[in-house]
Amino acid sequence: MRIDVVTIFPEYLEPLNVSLVGKARARGLLDVRVHDLRSWTHDRHHTVDDTPYGGGPGMVMKPEPWGEALDEVTASATPERQPVLVVPTPAGRPFDQALAVELSQAPWLVFTPARYEGIDRRVVEEYAQRFDVREVSIGDYVLAGGEAPVLVMVEAVARLLPGVLGNAESHRDDSFAAGPMAHLLEGPIYTKPPQWRDRGIPEVLLSGHHGRIARWRRDQALARTAANRPDLIARCDPASLDDHDRAE
Ligand code: SAM
Repeated sequence: MRIDVVTIFPEYLEPLNVSLVGKARARGLLDVRVHDLRSWTHDRHHTVDDTPYGGGPGMVMKPEPWGEALDEVTASATPERQPVLVVPTPAGRPFDQALAVELSQAPWLVFTPARYEGIDRRVVEEYAQRFDVREVSIGDYVLAGGEAPVLVMVEAVARLLPGVLGNAESHRDDSFAAGPMAHLLEGPIYTKPPQWRDRGIPEVLLSGHHGRIARWRRDQALARTAANRPDLIARCDPASLDDHDRAE
């Protein structure tokens, strides 16, 4: 997968050299290119923002540098190989695991993290005529810029790419993963030692009985979801939970 990020803070994306994403890049599974938006400005001050039409506080990112940057970055797009443009904004649709899965199937993602009050609206309109454009929010709060959301989204997408996780099964049981436990959060997990301070681990996990362990994990997932995310419980299909029991 190819990923382009256009930003006024390229250094903010340095964590993409580290850990899972960094290793995926080193192994050639991910081709990440970070671009400085200011290199598409033509004035002495490399201006990327201006005052908003209609008045109001804050500044708005100018369309010209974004237009030049996106034209150049996407110049090699063909009808067969189109980028998906991901525009981080608190006004976008919520980013979730289903969208991460969808984006992980695209061959090419272009991210446009903004600063100030965001980007002149005409940029989204312009590129929506050429490409699949997604305005995406990582949560109901406002950050100072879109770079942290890009780090979040790239990591969520990258771990779904074939070959990126050491164990391809690792994300099968994750919270939000598709399947019979869809919409449930993952329950509590344990490792060695069996006794830590005065705390042991639930007896059932030592039983070696796969059916009982699966049932226990399912119950724990339900309890945790009910406690932390009652909104998800409503979306849970009881029949698929029974299928899960039968499958184990
Ligand atoms: N005026 C905008 C609004 O109220 O919707 C907020 C602009 S915010 C200060 C600057 C930039 O940070 C946004 O354009 C976006 O790129 C990014 N950003 C901030 N919060 C975000 C969030 N929750 N999800 C995705 N991007 C976000």
